[in-house]
Formats: sequence, C-alpha cells, structure tokens
Amino acid sequence: MKVLAGMTLEEITNFVLEMKASKFRAKQIHNWIYTKSVSSIDEMTDLAKSFREELKQVAVVTDSKIKIKQKSSDGTLKYLIEYPDGNCVETVLMRFDNRANLTACVSSQVGCAVNCSFCATGKRGFIRNLTYKEIIEQVLTIQRDTGLKITNIVFMGQGEPLLNLNNVLKALEIFNNDFQIGARRITISTSGIVPKINELAEHKLQSTLAISLHAPTHEKRRKFMPIENKYPLSELKPALLNYVEKTGRRITIEYILIKDFNSDIETAKELAYLLKDLKCNINLIPYNDVNSTGYKKPSNNEIMKFKYLLEHSGKKVTVRLERGADIDAACGQLSGKANKK
Ligand code: SAH
Ligand code: SF4
Repeated sequence: MKVLAGMTLEEITNFVLEMKASKFRAKQIHNWIYTKSVSSIDEMTDLAKSFREELKQVAVVTDSKIKIKQKSSDGTLKYLIEYPDGNCVETVLMRFDNRANLTACVSSQVGCAVNCSFCATGKRGFIRNLTYKEIIEQVLTIQRDTGLKITNIVFMGQGEPLLNLNNVLKALEIFNNDFQIGARRITISTSGIVPKINELAEHKLQSTLAISLHAPTHEKRRKFMPIENKYPLSELKPALLNYVEKTGRRITIEYILIKDFNSDIETAKELAYLLKDLKCNINLIPYNDVNSTGYKKPSNNEIMKFKYLLEHSGKKVTVRLERGADIDAACGQLSGKANKK
C-alpha cells in the first residue's frame, strides 16, 4: 500500500500516471492531503467514485494513528502518534492567545542518543530515526484533527534533528513546497553536532538554527551535556560563526536556567562574553520539571536579573513561555511514554 501523506506533487503525479489516470488527479489529491487535510480517500469528493475505489485498492492517506491526545489548560495539544512498527513519538501544537501563529513542535527521532541529563527524551536512549514522511505525518495529524493550518514549525520535539539530517532536510523541502510554510517560519534546534552544523551551513537555508547551549564554559557544560565531550565549545563556537557568515542568518541561543547551577550573575557574564561576537538572540528557558533530576528552576527575580545582564551586553533576550506543563508537553518533558511496553 502506498501512503499518500508525505508524497510530493511530483511523486503523486508519477503514481497516478502509473494508474493510467490523468495528471490533474494528482493536483486534486495533493490538495486534499496538504490543504484540506483529509484522513481518508473517501473524503476526496471531487474524484470520481470509481477512481476513489481504484485508489483505495493501492493507497491509503496515512498508516499511523493517534494513540493518545491530551489538552493542556493553556490550550496546548499533545499527541502521541503511533507508526506501523509500534514506535511512538510526541508532537505538540502550541497556540499563543495574542498571535495568529499555530506552531507545531515536531520530533525527528524515536528517543535520542545525546542523553542530556535534564531531558526526559534522553533518558530512554536512541531507538531509531524517523523517515521524512513520519516527520511530515506529525504536522498532518494536527491539521486533520483540529482542522487548522499550521503556520510555524519547530524541530524541538524528541530527538536530535542534526543526527537525522537527510530526513530533516527532505521534510523541510516538503514543508516549503507542499505545505507552503516559508523557511523562515521553521526552526531547527540542536545540541551542537559540529560537523552537521558545518554541513547545514553549506545549504544556506533561511530557516532558523537554534543551539541548545545551556552553559558558557566547557567545565560546566560537560557536567550535564555529554555531547560537550565530543564537540566542545571550542569547536562549536567557530562552527556558529561560520554558520552566520555562510547564511547571513541570526542564530538563536537556547539557555535552560537551572537554580544554583547556571543562573548566577557570574555565569551570565561568562555567557555574555562567549556570545559577544556572535550574531544571535538569546532564549532563556526556565527549567521544566522532569522526574528525578533534582534540578529546579530559579526564582523570577533571578531569571530577570540574568536576563537584564544579557540585555545590557546588547543582545535581544526572551524568556520562553512555558506551554503545556500540566500534560508534560513542555520543553524536555516529552518521553514518548507509550514506547515502554
Ligand atoms: N535535541 C534538540 C531538539 C530538542 S529541543 C536539542 O536538544 O536542541 C528541546 C529544547 O528543550 C532544547 O533546547 C532542550 O535542551 C530543552 N530542554 C530539554 N529538557 C528541558 C527541561 N527539562 N526544561 C527546559 N528545557 C529543556
Ligand atoms: Fe536529545 Fe535534545 Fe533531549 Fe539532549 S535535549 S537528550 S539532544 S532531545
């Protein structure tokens, strides 16, 4: 069975031509998949009934399903999606009352090998990469279920996107061409896989690259991000400078604030110094609770002081709004629990 979701217009065209149908059918099917977000071939009502029957013999819209859906008191929706092999990932829809944007937070892998000590995903280890179709499927699932059109995408769900770069790049292409979501509305977040950042720089994408920095020195960063031993800041920093030079784009620096660990004034100064010559914005993320890490978020007062100091160094600094914490949908809380069979 062919799975239509995730196929490009060209692929659908080749497929319908093989079925000896006219090329125009491909446009119609494409529109049903990406714009009208239907779940079944029966809903494609401008296709002749006989053609729909023929199509149903060889294709389905999707082969994945929603296993659990949860709604947060702030409107955030979290879906646990199950793929045919039984593996599950989470995907989150965030809406902000004051903006028209609808942002999908997508996963790029089942589990993650990077194993940052503050993250629920890392705790489960790496299971497998998602195919580009499985990445696309997450956004289509939200669109089908809500009837809404996603406007922004962040690769901030489970997994390290740069360790699955080929599928992520192919998904980006489909988000651009088939969903008509502009590259500038897409953000890829990475823990800092240096060779892949260099590779990505050569693609000169207009998407935003976000770096999970979380600490300004080697000594501190390696305490909670094992990736720092493999790709230390001394290599990451030049890669970021190169990325900005090649793409002209401003990088986003993500920085989790953990009480009594990386949120004091001295550390803020070290961070300001590290980022002095880098074209970047800073996004502070007060630590979200994950079972048994022992970490806590700092007080609002401490957060504001940290922010003020960075702003004083000339950077634009935002504090990330916590979304969906009551359903474990906030940053770092996605564990894909149903995988634990
Ligand atoms: N693997 C990629 C994509 C995940 S993005 C990456 O690490 O960048 C999710 C963001 O949430 C990352 O910046 C991650 O470091 C952060 N995060 C992880 N655990 C968190 C927690 N418990 N509280 C707040 N942010 C967390
Ligand atoms: Fe993996 Fe990102 Fe979680 Fe680190 S924060 S374990 S890189 S998903």
